[in-house]
Amino acid sequence: MAVLPVRLYGDPVLRKRAADVTSFDGSLRRRIADLRETMAAYHGVGLAATQVGVLERVAVVDVPLDEEGITRAAYTLVNPVIEHRAASQTAEEGCLSIPGIYEDVTRAQQIRVRYQDEEGRSARLEAEGYLSRAIQHEVDHLDGVLFVDRLSPLKRQFLRRALDALARGELPEGYAPPLAGSGGAS
Ligand SMILES: [Zn+2]
Repeated sequence: MAVLPVRLYGDPVLRKRAADVTSFDGSLRRRIADLRETMAAYHGVGLAATQVGVLERVAVVDVPLDEEGITRAAYTLVNPVIEHRAASQTAEEGCLSIPGIYEDVTRAQQIRVRYQDEEGRSARLEAEGYLSRAIQHEVDHLDGVLFVDRLSPLKRQFLRRALDALARGELPEGYAPPLAGSGGAS
């Protein structure tokens, strides 16, 4: 397993639509293990394969369900499709590919998602709140959509300079990604 470098805003791969996974083999399971390890190393609550430059429809989420993060909802979603959305919620969102920027985003409160697990078995999940938000954010990544695309034009205008700076490779002060390639400790 390996920690992979997370691609940042301005990298064209983040704007591409990922392809369906058709082969559920050991190589897919290794790529999923790398995704999980990378998400943990970056302290993320979700990561899409697109964000490590792999254009296949795979995302992992690991969302705390209580303040201390003791109870968590962790899923690996292969070929996820959001079949149903209901009600709405607005909360602050960030993205490992857009360091230093956090903004309120409105999304569905409840979703039903159809997906396959890493063995290719079909499954359905009903999610609400934070888990629902994380899944919607990751499915957006698989379609080349970023959370800043969902902000009002005025807010996007306000963030333009910061986003342009990121796209030029200027990282926010204090940005320190984990060392790529390092194995997990114990
Ligand atoms: Zn993201």
